[in-house]
Amino acid sequence: MINVNLDLVRKYDISAPRYTSYPTAVEFRDFATPAPLLAHLDRSNRDATLPLSLYFHLPFCETLCWFCGCTTVITLNHQSSDTYLDYLEKEVALLAPRVHRDRKVVQLHYGGGTPTFFQPPQLARLAALIRQHFSFAPEAELSVEVDPRRLSHAQVVALRESGFNRASLGVQDFNPQVQEAVHRIQPRAMTEQAINWLRAEGFTSLNLDLIYGLPYQTVASFTDTLEQVLELNPDRLAVFSYAHVPWMKPAQKILERESALPPPETKLAMLKLITETLTSRGYVYIGMDHFAKATDELAVAQAARTLQRNFQGYSTRAGTEILAFGISAISQTPHSYRQNHKTLEPYYAALDRGEVPALRGRELSEEDARRRDIIMRVMCHLQLDYAALSREFGFDFAARYATELARLAPLAADGLVEISAGGVRVTELGRLFLRNIAVCFDAYYAPESKRHSRTV
Ligand code: SF4
Repeated sequence: MINVNLDLVRKYDISAPRYTSYPTAVEFRDFATPAPLLAHLDRSNRDATLPLSLYFHLPFCETLCWFCGCTTVITLNHQSSDTYLDYLEKEVALLAPRVHRDRKVVQLHYGGGTPTFFQPPQLARLAALIRQHFSFAPEAELSVEVDPRRLSHAQVVALRESGFNRASLGVQDFNPQVQEAVHRIQPRAMTEQAINWLRAEGFTSLNLDLIYGLPYQTVASFTDTLEQVLELNPDRLAVFSYAHVPWMKPAQKILERESALPPPETKLAMLKLITETLTSRGYVYIGMDHFAKATDELAVAQAARTLQRNFQGYSTRAGTEILAFGISAISQTPHSYRQNHKTLEPYYAALDRGEVPALRGRELSEEDARRRDIIMRVMCHLQLDYAALSREFGFDFAARYATELARLAPLAADGLVEISAGGVRVTELGRLFLRNIAVCFDAYYAPESKRHSRTV
């Protein structure tokens, strides 16, 4: 079990990136045309063995949850998804010919929004589109984000028939007062039914998403939610700290009513409760709010050092190139990021012109790519092996990054990392502070910046 020292949590509560990319999305810039970014896709495509990870952003939701920070389109009109599929077809038709047919998809993820806004025939149409253009590795992992409020048994069957084997279910909290306050009524029976359907159809890894820091939550109420969640026996849990950013997401302002948002000290106590409860009940703390059973592939991949961090969080498939479709989706090559338009209108307009719908992104220098490698090793492998890094980079790692390594000394004094002649190892306690460790290697980090969320 990890014992959480709240004095250390207060000390290290800084505003820092979550490192789903490096450089982070705030360093992306607008391009006049997508051509320079697409050149990176063409370059990496010369390697026909480079595996692919596909992401489809399915943005529609029937109602808005007031805490939501995702890119969504709120509508009750289900024909919207037919139109959206028409445009996904155009986007796939533009990009798939640039991908060597021998390259194998090892991972496919539907995120949102609410992917289960799509009805069974639409889910089947999307799967057929993808399989028409890409070939899958036999052991590919296919995962989908599920809203138990918008799920039918027929959708589970359609997803399973398309090869999906993993699902992540949004729960947030089981307390009815909290659910009402955040505009997301989801009785436990609904979540249980979704889990039963998914398990019965053969989904092998189920993740539940929870959020702490929502209105009316207390340590006692969240203890009850955690106990109920543990009864459902998920393979993984992601327990996020609610990020209150009403200047970016105006609907969040509603949550300020009645002053029911828990104060920072209550959030700290909830963080301690979550970490200590889950790590004492058979879950490994992967890092960055993610927990997994020791037998789950996420924990196995971390132990085997094949874990990867990307815009979907942690992923079990390392060394892949990410090809992402739909609004706001971010693609990744070894030396670039490319983000699609964030709203429907410009996304549709670009595709109507026959253009790839992305004008924003980032090209990585060799130094950026090296620092990304270092930061991802901290976030995923929880260690830096100087000899291995020196071999890979072709120079003495410890000598070149002596300034960055010196920044770790106070963290070592607080027990977050252990530094030896051969490298750096993140301790059990240090898993709570991965951002603080990674930030030491971030060449763009400005400590006074408020552009990133805080640790708690
Ligand atoms: S269902 Fe998910 S994506 Fe849609 S509004 Fe709620 S939290 Fe946001």
